[in-house]
Amino acid sequence: MTKDILQCNKILDSEYKTVDAADIECLLSLISDKEKVLLGEHINEDYSHDELGGVKRRPDVVIQASNAEEVSKIMKYAYEKRIPVTPRGSGTGLVGASVPIYGGIMIDLSGMNKILELDEENLTLTVEPGVLLMEISKFVEERDLFYPPDPGEKTATIGGNINTNAGGMRAVKYGVTRDYVRGLEVVLPNGEMIEVGGKVVKNSSGYSLKDLIVGSEGTLGIVTKAVLKLLPLPKRFVSLLVPFPNLEKAIDTVPKIIKSKSIPTAIEFMQREAIVAAEEFLGKKFPDNSSNAYLLLKFDGNSLEEVENNYEKVADICLENGALDVFISNTEEREEAIWSARGAFLEAIKASTTEMDEVDVVVPRNKVAEFVKYTHEMESKHNIRIRRFGHAGDGNLHIYILKDELREEEWELKLKAVMEDMYKKAKELKGQVSGEHGIGYAKKVYLNQSLSKESLSIMKGIKLAFDPLNILNPGKVC
Ligand SMILES: Cc1cc2nc3c(=O)[nH]c(=O)nc-3n(C[C@H](O)[C@H](O)[C@H](O)COP(=O)(O)OP(=O)(O)OC[C@H]3O[C@@H](n4cnc5c(N)ncnc54)[C@H](O)[C@@H]3O)c2cc1C
Repeated sequence: MTKDILQCNKILDSEYKTVDAADIECLLSLISDKEKVLLGEHINEDYSHDELGGVKRRPDVVIQASNAEEVSKIMKYAYEKRIPVTPRGSGTGLVGASVPIYGGIMIDLSGMNKILELDEENLTLTVEPGVLLMEISKFVEERDLFYPPDPGEKTATIGGNINTNAGGMRAVKYGVTRDYVRGLEVVLPNGEMIEVGGKVVKNSSGYSLKDLIVGSEGTLGIVTKAVLKLLPLPKRFVSLLVPFPNLEKAIDTVPKIIKSKSIPTAIEFMQREAIVAAEEFLGKKFPDNSSNAYLLLKFDGNSLEEVENNYEKVADICLENGALDVFISNTEEREEAIWSARGAFLEAIKASTTEMDEVDVVVPRNKVAEFVKYTHEMESKHNIRIRRFGHAGDGNLHIYILKDELREEEWELKLKAVMEDMYKKAKELKGQVSGEHGIGYAKKVYLNQSLSKESLSIMKGIKLAFDPLNILNPGKVC
């Protein structure tokens, strides 16, 4: 466990029961397949961190759950004994949310991975939480249906996506994961099971517990089943890759595109440095890397005419605002080349340095240019390498602060100073701490700083109402 965790956690490990041999014996008696209870050296190191990597602790025991009843039995036991429990999907999170910072039991939900029902009359798909995002897309698209949320990491589980309210590239037109969750089956911290929402399209029946669970990062309950909303699959799509002489010109064009009332599916911004890193990482050429900055847009619709009307208007706006050219991509091969590079930016930047941390703020769309400019100023002010790309169309920026060859103490000091400056700026621009990656452990301090005392106290009250003993994923969010 890192020093930082020990210093920051207000709850002490001693407030929880340590898992001992008697607990293991009881847990083994609750699980039908004993091989799914992992101990000691059989606990893979991967279970001690997520993709962020900076926050680490090994669970005392990992249980690879097979069904909701097992999850319920484990929670009942943990609740009775006051043992902390951390749910985990694929571990692709970026804020340490699935790291068991108090040790205890980790429930790995990735093996509960069945697609349970496609209901074509209600346009819903019912799934277990361990189904991967890429499996959902493939399954529905083969049937001419569409699950719109499109976060970059396709090996994430739907349970993880629901619990982080994952966003992704299509948020501009279609919204985020929350908009596609109709119903959930949830195991509460005390082991009781509830169903929230359902297949209904509308629901004004009291407080929306479903919407509280979505984005709760495994702190309120464990999702064991989800009913997802589907749409008909759009028949046509076209992407535009638009080079600009500089990033300011590119980003300044985005509010004008939004104002034009054409609705792109995605508007991403990127700089040459990220493209070159992705080319090296993938060993594949991007269609163009000669310009300093790019907008990448996607359009979809049901007829070529509808898509053309939309993208021609936007292409003109780009050219009027200083674009150097507009490359149209309308073949599957080109689409693959462009979007696979875009999908690899994070991994490519990570591979280019020794360690990194990220800022995932979201600001009003007309403030994106100002925030990006500010990140460049921070690079000079703090003399540290910073890389950036993001969802210009929804104001969600991904900014990576890179350690490179900095010594540990210097890195920690600089990182803290850069982070504080960035979150202060986001607040000044009326932005939020996280657009899609969540708060987890790593961004907790910044959420605390950004919320009013009243909002924070309501959030803590919600946690207490679901989890009075604070055993489910403790030390996360608020
Ligand atoms: C290369 C890369 C690109 C990415 N791109 C995007 C992107 O575009 N948009 C985006 O939003 N995110 C993105 N992410 C972040 C990450 O993929 C998402 O946060 C994803 O939702 C995590 O899913 P997971 O299955 O890996 O969950 P984990 O990391 O295992 O867990 C995430 C959180 O969900 C909780 N959890 C998991 N399953 C359950 C369950 N069944 N019940 C209750 N709680 C549960 C965990 O406790 C934890 O709090 C990216 C990550 C990488 C590495």
